[in-house]
Amino acid sequence: MQTYFDKELLTQPEVARVDTAIRKCVHCGFCNVTCPTYQLTGDELDGPRGRIYQIKNALEANRATPILQKHLDRCLTCRSCETTCPAGVDYSHVLDLGRQMVNRDVPRPAKQRLLHALLRTILPEPSRFAALLKLGRWLRPILPATLKDRVPRARPAGPLPDSDHPRKMILLLGCVQDSLDGSINGALIRVFDHLGISLKPIAEAGCCGALDHHLAPGQAALNRMRHNIDCWWPQVEQGAEAIVAGASGCGVALADYGRLLMDDPEYAERAAKISALVKDPAQILAEEALDTLPKKTSRKVAFQCPCTLQHGFGVTGQVEKILKGLGHILVPVADSHICCGSAGTYSLLQPKFAEQLRKNKISHLMEQSPELILTANIGCQIHLQRHNPVPVQHWIELLDPISVFG
Ligand code: SF4
Ligand code: SF4
Repeated sequence: MQTYFDKELLTQPEVARVDTAIRKCVHCGFCNVTCPTYQLTGDELDGPRGRIYQIKNALEANRATPILQKHLDRCLTCRSCETTCPAGVDYSHVLDLGRQMVNRDVPRPAKQRLLHALLRTILPEPSRFAALLKLGRWLRPILPATLKDRVPRARPAGPLPDSDHPRKMILLLGCVQDSLDGSINGALIRVFDHLGISLKPIAEAGCCGALDHHLAPGQAALNRMRHNIDCWWPQVEQGAEAIVAGASGCGVALADYGRLLMDDPEYAERAAKISALVKDPAQILAEEALDTLPKKTSRKVAFQCPCTLQHGFGVTGQVEKILKGLGHILVPVADSHICCGSAGTYSLLQPKFAEQLRKNKISHLMEQSPELILTANIGCQIHLQRHNPVPVQHWIELLDPISVFG
């Protein structure tokens, strides 16, 4: 795609990188075919090619418009388009700059500003979110059905091992995951312990920064990232093998620290090292001998591979392989590359699109009547378990030595 950016604008490293990314686009439109929002609306402006074109126009005019805001708000950041693109266009990099311009140039209505502020104040702070969820659970019996669905019952972590293995990895607890479903981190810690790995959180570390980054890319998100790097660095220097998050959405955000902080002279090198250490649990377990894990009853399951795992980490088929290796029956899932509509806060901010994508996903997942749906991201789990005839859980729970599953 041809670009005509102002020379002075191009002196900004971020703009120069986006210019390179946009120029790679050959207009083929393959990305539109796998874009969930283009599939829903059929509008070129709701597809990746159209969004790239609109961002290019905004950069050339050095001004974003309300139309650009509307179509970027509708983007799920699922990165399905990146997996499809034959030219290797780094769409999410282009999108980041587009969102920065929108936030700079296009004021939002008061209601939207309030909602964004509430989400950014509550969700990244585990104690605030836990308190709100506790209240929601207490009020659950009298909540309307639409709200009740969003307040899952408590699932505690269960007993945690106290062993200190020579092999050590850092665990990111996640800001909402532990309150919504404590059994995920519990299962992760027990499975890793069983394999001779101490997986421990660093208490001072906080939100990965993804929520701030998606709603308003800028210093607030980068400061969360810098804070986590400072918290983890002593353990990294002492030889921590990897940094792991139970939610693939958080994991893929950590893997992006190197790119997002590459222009920060103080943090660039450490951010790159942190990104290199980030692994999804599936990538780690694929390298371990799992035959020592307690034998479980074989289950017929459907695996929903989150976009952050398949398009972000580029991990496909790994979880299925692990589960099959342990004797479980994996049913095929049509359109498995398409987002379920959860996408962080997307299901709250774009409820109509999110609900349509959820219904499509559930119908594909349930086609072969599995007894369980498994996922790798807490956001997808909560989104999919609403009105669902079978339980939706994190796949690691099928490996948990003390799990209720068989
Ligand atoms: S990130 Fe997802 S929703 Fe956004 S343009 Fe790409 S495929 Fe479409
Ligand atoms: S698939 Fe890649 S090259 Fe083709 S239109 Fe989309 S972004 Fe451009």
